[in-house]
Amino acid sequence: MEETKLLSCNEDDLEIAAKLLRDGKIVGIPTETVYGLGADATNSKAVESVFKVKGRPADNPLIVHISGMDMLERIALDIPDLAYKLAEKFWPGPLTMVLKKRDTIPGVTSGGLDTVGIRMPSHPIIKRIIELAEIPIAAPSANISGYPSPTTAEHVMNDMTGKISVVVDGGRCHYGVESTVISFDDSQTIRILRPGCVTKEDLEQIYKTVIIDDAVLNEVTNQSNVCSPGMKYKHYSPKANIVIIDGSFDCFKKYISHHNGENVYSLIYDRESKDFPYQHLTYGNNSDEQAHQLFEKLRELDKVGAETVYVRTPEKNGVGLAVYNRLIRAAGFEVIKL
Ligand code: AMP
Ligand code: MG
Repeated sequence: MEETKLLSCNEDDLEIAAKLLRDGKIVGIPTETVYGLGADATNSKAVESVFKVKGRPADNPLIVHISGMDMLERIALDIPDLAYKLAEKFWPGPLTMVLKKRDTIPGVTSGGLDTVGIRMPSHPIIKRIIELAEIPIAAPSANISGYPSPTTAEHVMNDMTGKISVVVDGGRCHYGVESTVISFDDSQTIRILRPGCVTKEDLEQIYKTVIIDDAVLNEVTNQSNVCSPGMKYKHYSPKANIVIIDGSFDCFKKYISHHNGENVYSLIYDRESKDFPYQHLTYGNNSDEQAHQLFEKLRELDKVGAETVYVRTPEKNGVGLAVYNRLIRAAGFEVIKL
């Protein structure tokens, strides 16, 4: 078993991380969304080991992270004008655009597709590491596939100790949920494949026709017909059985009074805690706070031994849509409407 070292974010340590990446190794890296498991996106062997370490299905493509527009043009082809417009507004930041790929990106990185998801992150640590390594970095979330994404270096160490050489500690991630993933159906439409902190409303300020892919909120039944392969898989799931309760706080309380038990927990809003006599954790008061805290709280629920967790539903618009999208997958689409 390999020893996993924690690196700091000083320049010497970032140079060590960049060198490891150039040598085809995997590095845990903080970003503004969640921690990533970085590898040289142009090196098939390095990328293969990312899939292996995560236990990720080979058809679920990785997002490639870049530090500048020159790098974009080295890995993508036929980039539409709209993509440049969006890059100007939202990059660096939590927006991934699916574009036609060049041969510099091997099929293993793109899950066998002829497109590649590309993002320019704003977090100074990953940005600096890419600049030092001078290579695009493929980085899925640094968790074991299916488990909640990591938002601290400690979460990455919990999942990856002995499996990767280093994790760079950059503290808590700012947003807490993964990037918004979009594709361009044709030059007329932006399609949201995965909601994130760049919201539908944000995108509509730049371009009027934005649609949300069916797989964002619905369970995928036709496996072959999915625009974003990641949406096929159960995801973000702690060991506990998660159930979303969609209704008012009063209805929620009444429901829990009938379904309480020793290892039953609720996940509610902070402000509701004082009026809630059953065991619970809270996950903030608004969508930004819920996005920031969601994965951490799902991991904490496992730590306290929760077996069933009833969750107060988040909003389903703005950043709330990103929170709801992660929660319904964690819940295996189990939503009780009251
Ligand atoms: P993760 O690496 O866990 O952040 O997941 C990456 C997400 O981006 C998955 O949902 C993928 O399906 C999606 N994605 C990445 N590349 C592409 C692509 N070329 N086409 C469609 N979806 C993509
Ligand atoms: Mg992931």
